[in-house]
Amino acid sequence: MLKLGFNEATCKENSTVEKDLALCEKYGYDYIELRLDMLKEYLRTHTLEELAAFFSKSHLKPFALNSIENINFCTPKEWDELIALFTFGCEVAQKIQNPYIIVVPTVTDAVCTKNEKEVFDDSVKSLNSLADIAKDYGVKLSFEPIGDRRWCCNSVRQALEIVQAVDRDNVGLTVDCINVYMHDKCADVDFISKIPKEKLFVYHINDCEDLPLGILDHCHRIMPGKGAIPVKEVSKAVQAAGYDGPACLELFRPEYWRMEAEDVIKMGAECVRPYL
Ligand code: ZN
Repeated sequence: MLKLGFNEATCKENSTVEKDLALCEKYGYDYIELRLDMLKEYLRTHTLEELAAFFSKSHLKPFALNSIENINFCTPKEWDELIALFTFGCEVAQKIQNPYIIVVPTVTDAVCTKNEKEVFDDSVKSLNSLADIAKDYGVKLSFEPIGDRRWCCNSVRQALEIVQAVDRDNVGLTVDCINVYMHDKCADVDFISKIPKEKLFVYHINDCEDLPLGILDHCHRIMPGKGAIPVKEVSKAVQAAGYDGPACLELFRPEYWRMEAEDVIKMGAECVRPYL
């Protein structure tokens, strides 16, 4: 049995941290994935102590911070900026007892033509550097392959090889339905069930419109059960791997950003529950 989770991207244009917390608690979510940009906004008028106090008296708990992006092939300046954001994330995570930070490979036209060995070597190096910092805060890194070929690491198989080479307790994987679908239309869902339990950290649940690969993008994500992804099979595969954490609803759909956040969060709970 999976738990019910909410990723703040789902209402990032029509809500706030404060509102997401109240609504997720109201509609029975077990976990929330907070966004670092929304947290920075929240901290203009609130403190981390207030956030920690909310979680200490609520059913809702923090799960993963989103996200540290473009971790590959950074210039020294890009790496310094990334480390500053990552360190901020680690400090927040430690204060509010949030276990994971999502880390994402790089997307650029230059980088997406690198060969697999180059991506492997660079990812292992970057993840090790980040894990060195994270261990002092008791935080774990969840590496998320993004299915589109514009991202340099785009399959669960490739990401798992990287994570296994890193071989650290605090480095694992995120499986996200649309990223599995964007890679090969979920041709090998069985592979997910073979991920070692201790390496599967986070599960992002979503569905998407039936569009050709190459056209399909993250704005086409839709509520689970309303699209083309075999969400039931993917959800079963993560459970077969031994994962029993939350299925976190992660959408980037402009249509939902034009709605009331409460309606989206309520509908989200209804659409995700059948897959738990
Ligand atoms: Zn995701």
